[in-house]
Amino acid sequence: MLSSVLVANRGEIAVRIIRGARELGVRTVAVYSEPDRLAPHVMEADEAYCIGPAASSESYLRGDRIIQVARDVGAEAIHPGYGFLAERASFAREVEEAGLIWIGPRSGTIASMGDKTEARQRMKAAGVPIVPGLVEPVVGVEAALEAAVGIGYPVLLKAAAGGGGKGMRAVNGPDELPRAFEAAQREALGAFGDDAVYLERYLDRPRHIEIQILGDTHGNVVHLGERECSIQRRHQKLVEESPSPVITPELRHAMGTAAVRAAQAVDYVGAGTVEFLFQDGDFFFLEMNTRLQVEHPVTELVTGLDLVAWQLRVASGEALSFEQEDVALSGHAIECRITSEDPFHGFLPSTGVVDHLDLPAGPGVRWDGGIHAGFPVSLHYDPLLGKLITHGKDRGEAIRRMARALDELVVGGVETSAAFHRGVMDEEDFRGGNLSIRYVEEHPELLDGAPSREELRVIALTATLLERLRASSPQATRMGTGDGRTGLSSWQRAVHPWSRR
Ligand code: ADP
Repeated sequence: MLSSVLVANRGEIAVRIIRGARELGVRTVAVYSEPDRLAPHVMEADEAYCIGPAASSESYLRGDRIIQVARDVGAEAIHPGYGFLAERASFAREVEEAGLIWIGPRSGTIASMGDKTEARQRMKAAGVPIVPGLVEPVVGVEAALEAAVGIGYPVLLKAAAGGGGKGMRAVNGPDELPRAFEAAQREALGAFGDDAVYLERYLDRPRHIEIQILGDTHGNVVHLGERECSIQRRHQKLVEESPSPVITPELRHAMGTAAVRAAQAVDYVGAGTVEFLFQDGDFFFLEMNTRLQVEHPVTELVTGLDLVAWQLRVASGEALSFEQEDVALSGHAIECRITSEDPFHGFLPSTGVVDHLDLPAGPGVRWDGGIHAGFPVSLHYDPLLGKLITHGKDRGEAIRRMARALDELVVGGVETSAAFHRGVMDEEDFRGGNLSIRYVEEHPELLDGAPSREELRVIALTATLLERLRASSPQATRMGTGDGRTGLSSWQRAVHPWSRR
């Protein structure tokens, strides 16, 4: 086993990695930006070093400084977490060249999966189904128009170097294509310094289902089942679960086998994710994420495997101690991403100091967090405060536990997305497993702080009852009504739309 690891990240994922490393007796080295000097990952690590000011470009993205710290303090390996430098092939290569161990796949694997057209070519060659469309960038509007006819409208323009949904444009017909083509190129150039775009079929109501894979340096690759991540907003996942409510054992086998083939085609080492779009029983390769994912805990809860520990073991050269047949899924797990955003105001980022924090606990509840009371939440970093994850014997129990855990969670000082998640847990389509990547837009009521139909009925009923009570016994209503100023009792205020603000 490695003796030490530098964690090149912050927030909940840095804490998660440090926890995994400590359990294995691996010395942990944290790096941090100036405002993060008292952050949880700094407190949890054995050692911590400042690498620059608040801006990520001057701190968490400074690969040179991070490698220098690793050398200076004798850290053997670097774990990038997700985001920041995790999928920068050039950084992985610099780490390798510095004689340090990179916790992730080889830099060549990261590079080949970072280019969407190259990834599509390699997957097609490996027999993995891809979304119908081009496998090479398209040159010029004329060629794009021609290709679109072959694929069939609607089509999706995508940046070859894409990521984070940038440079993506859906096109319904030939008249829309020229403008969208130029816009996609411009956006791709601005975001990635590369204006290459290509076309694929636009699926109208797919689900996002991904397979977790794990490979070692001895050529073994297994898959650890799927995660359903269809509940997204602007291509950002909000709720994830495992298993998916629609994946049968046969489909799991088919998708898992395809994911393992995808991994083998690029000599995959470590933990990775093969993302698919799923529609009408068919699945199509979307992309491969060459790192640990935010949503990895749901897989950990249903498989009983510690993915961070396995990343460290694989990086130390250990072989997987189990085979595909040994992987069994038990129960159901759900994750809600708790962010510092106001779901009732367009997910507007919220900043401030976390002045109060009550964390849920009890059976089947896990909190992977990156904050503590007194922690300043700024606009410099990702708004993810922590992840609430529940595990139950079946999906119903996992949902009920999540609702209960969300009711227990109190984050004071900043707005959070928790109320949105609480709404999802009660929503009928979610409870019935009827999901697609359009879920959020199909349920605008979840983004509306106003009371639901059901809540309005309760309010109306309550008012009527109070009226009757008042008529029959003035004494009884005096106890029930609150301060008299609003004329609302405390429990009426609790369900009143204004009470949330
Ligand atoms: P990025 O790398 O920019 O995040 P992806 O290719 O992973 O882009 O796609 C991000 C999201 O966009 C997917 O999760 C899905 O919601 C949507 N999407 C991507 N491709 C398609 C498609 N062909 N049809 C419909 N939606 C798509």
